[in-house]
Amino acid sequence: MNGLMMNYQLTMDRILEHANRMYPQKRITTMQPDGSFHRYTYADMYRRVKRLAKALTTLGVAPGDRVGTFAWNNYQHLELYYAIPGAGAVCHTLNIRLFPEQLAYIVNHAEDKVVFIDSTLLPLYERVADQINCVEHYVLLNAPRDIKTGLSNVLFYEDLIEGADEDFAWRSTDENMAMGLCYTSGTTGDPKGALYSHRSMFLHTYGENQANALGLNESDIVLPVVPQFHAMAWGLPYASAMAGAEMVMPGPHLQAEPLANMIANERVTVAAGVPTIWNGLYHELRQNPRDISCVRALVVGGSAMPRALTKAYESELGVSVVHAWGMTELSPLGTVCNLLGKHEDLPDEEKWNIKATQGYPICGVEMRIVDEMGESLPWDGETMGELQVRGPWIIRQYFRRDVSEDYMTTDGWFRTGDVSTINPDGYMNITDRTKDLVKSGGEWISTVELENMIMAHPQVLEAAVIAVPDEKWQERPLAAIVPTQDGQSLTAEDITAFLQDKVAKFWIPERFIFVQEIPKTSVGKFNKKVLRSAYAEGELG
Ligand code: AMP
Repeated sequence: MNGLMMNYQLTMDRILEHANRMYPQKRITTMQPDGSFHRYTYADMYRRVKRLAKALTTLGVAPGDRVGTFAWNNYQHLELYYAIPGAGAVCHTLNIRLFPEQLAYIVNHAEDKVVFIDSTLLPLYERVADQINCVEHYVLLNAPRDIKTGLSNVLFYEDLIEGADEDFAWRSTDENMAMGLCYTSGTTGDPKGALYSHRSMFLHTYGENQANALGLNESDIVLPVVPQFHAMAWGLPYASAMAGAEMVMPGPHLQAEPLANMIANERVTVAAGVPTIWNGLYHELRQNPRDISCVRALVVGGSAMPRALTKAYESELGVSVVHAWGMTELSPLGTVCNLLGKHEDLPDEEKWNIKATQGYPICGVEMRIVDEMGESLPWDGETMGELQVRGPWIIRQYFRRDVSEDYMTTDGWFRTGDVSTINPDGYMNITDRTKDLVKSGGEWISTVELENMIMAHPQVLEAAVIAVPDEKWQERPLAAIVPTQDGQSLTAEDITAFLQDKVAKFWIPERFIFVQEIPKTSVGKFNKKVLRSAYAEGELG
């Protein structure tokens, strides 16, 4: 028998309506390209979103059309996050750090009809413009009137908003309409698109705001350092509006120094980014201390947060670290690492062991680990298996691609490509990507764990481990190490000695290289593919 509840569509405009009604005076602050601050409120944003949505429809954007954004984290990009779906269209966030061919590929693959471009990024886009054949209009953000561009059909963002009125009825009438599109930053093959619906994103926002997850609230001030083009800035723009939290948007200022100032001066309470960002910030704060104890949750994901860095933030800076795991395909949040009540009295060192794991699934995400035959494995904290997930904000198929057993099991679970353990409390710990594991003499070595151990050395800034072929053991780990400024005399022997009592003997690499920096992907993760091919080309010695 069917239930008898209202048929209330979970569409994203409802979140903005709620923020406008309940928290109209809450602020959104943006650090502009010139370093000045733009400040306005949810009420201001609401009015501009309505106008922008109307302008989009006047431009000919119809429900279901894709509209691209090529922009930093700023108030205009937030407006686009609501206006495009509110016009019934799909907000396709373009990763500004993709290789030119990949950028052209995703714009064409998505058939973006209009693309919004931040003028500071115009040269990056112009490089590929002649390979793109679907875009009817370009709209420039933050552009001076006399800007020179080779693009045709160019409009100015503020003109669009000024030219429209607020009298607009949302066109997002059905929760199953698509609202967002994000291509994965995968380092192999063509990028693949995750197409979110209003319903999936609405439920994701609820999920993220559970108290056991990130639990944003009305007194928070949220700084998404994670770009808006990386998995919808991990859903934080929507979660903030739902909660009535204020936002601080860093614009192009993603270096440690301006971030430290922003956090301290704007009294940020929740900041989110990849470990590389927090590593840089920590070293900046050691050199030029600021008080950032206003931060109640330093959210970190995208790659594994080194335990040593979590310890440093918590013990030296008074900032609580919240490790989270997700994927573009999961909208993106999957697990969050908060401590349980029973952990409260544990010694700090044990708490940091727990916090080094990726945490437990939030309600709405089911997970399991399986062996090579697809059989479920026990949650004993030791057995490693391929991590699979299912839930209402997890893709069942990539955009415009056939379903494949490479990523979907026949019984409906999404194969993450991550290898992990799960302990009896449900804490998941990623040991590797399936393709990154090292198989040495038939035994697995977790590169993530090894990197963590090496990065715990006080004179190591970053370390990435890859598998390299070995005659005797088939594969052995090679560690690429970036020393800190005061660690320039660091040697392989120092690291080997440091690892002696920390990992199994066969895990200790014989091959070390000291480098200036580890190559990074477009979203700031270690790019092991580049490292591997540099090794294969003989460039790493
Ligand atoms: P992306 O879609 O770019 O966010 O990439 C998702 C992948 O990033 C996951 O499948 C993991 O391999 C990795 N990842 C995300 N969060 C974490 C984390 N906290 N620890 C380790 N790996 C992570």
